This record gives sequence, C-alpha cells and structure tokens, in this order.
Amino acid sequence: MSRQTQSTGDFDAVVVGAGFAGLYMLHRLRELGLSVRVFEVGSGIGGTWFWNRYPGARCDIESLEYSYQFSEELQQEWEWSERYATQPEILRYLEHVADRFDLRRDIELETRVLSAHFDEATARWAIETERGSVSARFCVLATGCLSSANMPRFPGIERFAGATYHTGRWPHEGVDFTGQRVGVIGTGSSAIQSIPMIAEQAAHLFVFQRTPSYSIPAHNAPLDPGYVRQIRSDYAGFRKQNSQRPFGANFPVSERAALEVDADERAREYEARWRRGGLGFMTAFNDLILDRAANDTAAEFVRDKIRAIVRDPAVAETLAPKQVLGCKRLCVDTGYYATFNRPNVTLVDVSDAPIEAILPGGLRTRRAAYELDCIVFATGFDAMTGAALAIDIRGTSGQALREKWAEGPRTYLGLGTAGFPNLFLITGPGSPSVLSNMVPSIEQHVEWIADCIAWLRERGLERIDATPAAEDAWVVHVNEVASLTLYPSCNSWYLGANVPGKPRVFMPYLGFPPYVEKCNEVAARDYEGFTIG
Ligand code: FAD
Ligand code: NAP
Repeated sequence: MSRQTQSTGDFDAVVVGAGFAGLYMLHRLRELGLSVRVFEVGSGIGGTWFWNRYPGARCDIESLEYSYQFSEELQQEWEWSERYATQPEILRYLEHVADRFDLRRDIELETRVLSAHFDEATARWAIETERGSVSARFCVLATGCLSSANMPRFPGIERFAGATYHTGRWPHEGVDFTGQRVGVIGTGSSAIQSIPMIAEQAAHLFVFQRTPSYSIPAHNAPLDPGYVRQIRSDYAGFRKQNSQRPFGANFPVSERAALEVDADERAREYEARWRRGGLGFMTAFNDLILDRAANDTAAEFVRDKIRAIVRDPAVAETLAPKQVLGCKRLCVDTGYYATFNRPNVTLVDVSDAPIEAILPGGLRTRRAAYELDCIVFATGFDAMTGAALAIDIRGTSGQALREKWAEGPRTYLGLGTAGFPNLFLITGPGSPSVLSNMVPSIEQHVEWIADCIAWLRERGLERIDATPAAEDAWVVHVNEVASLTLYPSCNSWYLGANVPGKPRVFMPYLGFPPYVEKCNEVAARDYEGFTIG
C-alpha cells in the first residue's frame, strides 16, 4: 500500500475511499483494464471498520450476509467466527480481501481528496489531494454514508481537562476506562454496543440520553458449523433469496398485517422474533412501518421487555422509547438494558434538560452538573452527504455540489447527480443504502457503475450525465415512497435531523428489489435518463 509524498498522474478513474465500496470498485475497474487510483484519508483500509474501534463494535447484519458475494471462492473460504463479527474480525476480512485481490498497490493512504473540478474541454475531473493533483475521466465517491463524525459544538469543550473520544474515531491503542468516571453522550447503535462494555470497566458511567432507542437482543454466538455448511452448499441461492427481500437481508417478511391477527398471536410472533434476535424483528408483520396502530403493538412489546429487564421502574420508563419503532434505525444489543441495573451506571435524561456546557471537570445540563474524567461522544454522523460535501466538488459551469444540494441532496438513482458528468456515487442519497444490508447494495452499485463505464468505452463515449428531468422525477419518487411510510415521523439521521441546520429531507430509498429492477431497466434502455456523449 503506497503512501507517496506526491500524488500525480492521469488515470481512467479515481475512487475516493477504501471501505467495502472503494475496495470492490477498484477491483472491478481494474478487471476492465482501467488505470485506477484510490485515495483514502485513513492510515489503513476498511472505512467504517477502520475507524469504529469502540468496545463492542460489531455488525448487526449477520456476517454470512454482511460480506462480499462477488467471489464465490472468497465466500467459501472465509471463516466467520460469530453470528455478528466484531470490528477487528471485519477489518481482518477486508485486509484479506485487499491482499487476495492485490488491491493495495493502487491505494494511496493518508491522502484526503480536497476538491474535484470537472473540466468541460477535456471531459475529465481535476482532483486535488493533500499530496498533489491528478486527473481522471471518471470520479467515484466511495466516501461512505456514515463516515463523517458528528461532534456537537458544546460550549467549553476545549477546556475539558480529561480525554474525549468519538466512537467513529476511536484510538487504535484502545482506551482503558478502569477507575474512571465516564460520560457517554448518545444512545444510538454505537452507544448501545459500547455502553455495556464500558460499564464493566468504569468506576461510574453516566449515560446522557436525549432520545431512547429501541434495541433488540443480538443473541450473538459462535456460528454453528452445520449451519455454515448448509449456507455454503448453495451460497448463491441464499444471496439471491435475500436480494428479493425488502432490506436485501435474510429477514423473512410476514405476509400478515399486525392487526389482522389477535393480540395473543401478535405476542407469539414478537416473542419468537425477540428470541431469534436482530433486525428481523422489524418484519414480524408486513405493516409495521406503514401503520401507526400496527407499529404501536410492536413498540409496546419492546417497552414491556424493557420494563421486565430494568429493575427501577423510573429508569425503565426513561429508557422506553415513545417514537415509532424503526423510524430511527433499530439497534441490536448484548445486555444493553440490563446494564442500567448496575450500581455504577446512571441514566441522565437530557431530553428536557439539554447539555449546556462542557466544564473543565465534567459537564452541565440545564438541571445539574456531573463530574467526569472522560467523555465518549456516541453522537453519530453527518450521514449520507457529510463526506461528499466535505470535498469541494464542481461540475459543469463551475456549479458547486454544496450549492446544488443546499436544500438537500438531489440525485438520479443515488448514482449520479445532474450537472456533474462522469461522477458516480456509491450508495448515494436516493438509493437503498442505509435501509438495506449495505454490502450487497454496495456490490450492486459497483457493478452497475463498472458496467456503465464498460458500455461507454465499448462505444468510444466519454461522458455521461443524469438529466435534470430524470433526477427531478426520481427525487419526487423517493419522497413519495417515504411519505407512504412512518419513517419521516421522527427526528432521525435518515432525515438529517441530527445535525443542526441540515435540511430535513428523507435521504435513503426504501425497497431494495424494485430499486435493483429500476437500475437494470435504465441500463438495458441504454442508460435512460442520462445524457451520453
Ligand atoms: P466507509 O466504510 O465509510 O468508507 C468510506 C471511506 O472514505 C472512509 O474510510 C473515509 O475515510 C474515506 N473518505 C471519506 N472522504 C474522503 C476524502 N475526502 N478523501 C479520502 N478519503 C475519504 N451496515 C450494514 O449494512 N450492516 C451493519 O451491520 C453495519 N454496521 C455498522 C456499524 C458501524 C459502527 C457503522 C458506523 C456503520 C455500520 N454500517 C452497517 C454501515 C457501514 O458504514 C456500511 O455497511 C459500509 O461499511 C460502508 O462502506 P463504504 O465503503 O461505503 O464506506
Ligand atoms: P446515531 O444513531 O445518530 O446516535 C447518535 C446519538 O447521539 C443519538 O442518541 C442522539 O440523540 C445523540 N446526540 C446527538 N447529538 C446530541 C446532542 N447534542 N446532545 C445529546 N445527544 C445527542 O449514531 P450511531 O449510534 O453512531 O449510529 C449511526 C448509524 O451507524 C446507526 O444507525 C447504524 O446504521 C450504524 N451503526 C450500526 C451499528 C451496528 O450495530 N452494527 C453500530 C453503530 C452504528 P437523538 O436521537 O436525540 O438525536
């Protein structure tokens, strides 16, 4: 893996980011015979799994699915040890992929892409990095949906005497919380995975909760070799079956609506899904994200579980979410709610008494002050647009992407954005991305982009750009689909609501199978909705 002092050269394609998306994009484009350079700001590959090293970090889609399928040999030979692999194991997997497919020689680490400007005369991108400038016919943003850390700007933070950590930028050497008074801000997926682990070490843990999350037990365990053999005997069939499900994952969707059955039957189904564990709880009935009354039945089931697990009724009530279940991403945990039974853990409700300031020795909410030795920010990400918009991207006539997206992202299929020719996004806003198992979604995008580039090259064509009309229609469609659901009903990061000042627009597209069909149709119709030249 090269770390050059100067990035220079003219490439067929530049890929920004070396996570699941960037690595596979590189592989696929090289197979087409293209010269490719990947730039990655991190000092290692892996993206999400390079940065998020907090205690307890692991996937919440089962590893047998949260992995590449493009190589049958790879999926047959890699041994996952647990149902949900840990961050170190997923990172090892990605390191293995980089070696197995000889990817490192085209990846430049510790190199941030600062700007990308389209040159109309040559139909090429001029790309400026921290280490120099390159040019490329195609520019692919594999910058990640959840890679730009969200750090709330609490006054006084610079005067805090102790250490601060963000879950998405965790120190490589790890953190020893032994004997410390620790504050965790946030109660999303990252907090829910790390809180039980931090509580085991800390002298005292204060959890600052603004909105409680629904969490389903993971029931993580070593993988049963018999089950693995069974999947491997027809891995392609398993993948195909999952690709036909709404989230592109092995969550069997019930054909029944929640209110079609009686309360006993509903309770049996929820109990079975709770015992199986994981995100499949959401598909217990086919209308949970469509009908508020149906959703309430599932939400109340989880609230009852919280009341049964957490001994102090007041703490249980504070932990019990009120918003639509699944409207913020469902969490998957190991011992999260039970952690609040520990004598060294205090839940602090900051919903009506927000954190006002960080003090040299702790923090202050509107109601009280807390003495802390260190603070963990589990405050999430500027999701879906943050990393792309951090780059100064300019398309035709010098238009800035930041200006174009000032009122919210606009894309055609989440793959391209009008006025920015030869720029592709992997899992961009307007694609299933974070509402799907992301690895198959990434593979689908990479393959679509590679096929598109191959198609252009076969015809000696140099330029492809989404038409404004196709983009407008797609944006309308994405919003229409979202508005049929309960997703827009709460302040989630899907809507950008977690970042102050961010436009409130529902960003992902719901429905992996119809989306894939649409992408295939567009390609089959010679890239309908794109101008080609
Ligand atoms: P990333 O892995 O985010 O990689 C993007 C890379 O681009 C980063 O390394 C970043 O440093 C780099 N980059 C960004 N901007 C620049 C720039 N200007 N110059 C150079 N480099 C740049 N999804 C699931 O489906 N299932 C899960 O179980 C799951 N678990 C998750 C757990 C955590 C803790 C988090 C944060 C996310 C999880 N996700 C999960 C979502 C996860 O982000 C995706 O599954 C996937 O890893 C994304 O891969 P990617 O390559 O698209 O992006
Ligand atoms: P998140 O879901 O956005 O959670 C951030 C938390 O910080 C929320 O509880 C939020 O409260 C809180 N917060 C933000 N700003 C705050 C402020 N100013 N004051 C008080 N609280 C504040 O982020 P995340 O937990 O990192 O997860 C992001 C996504 O990454 C997940 O939804 C998931 O897609 C993925 N992920 C997956 C896993 C996994 O299990 N595999 C693990 C981690 C992450 P509000 O809700 O009130 O905004």
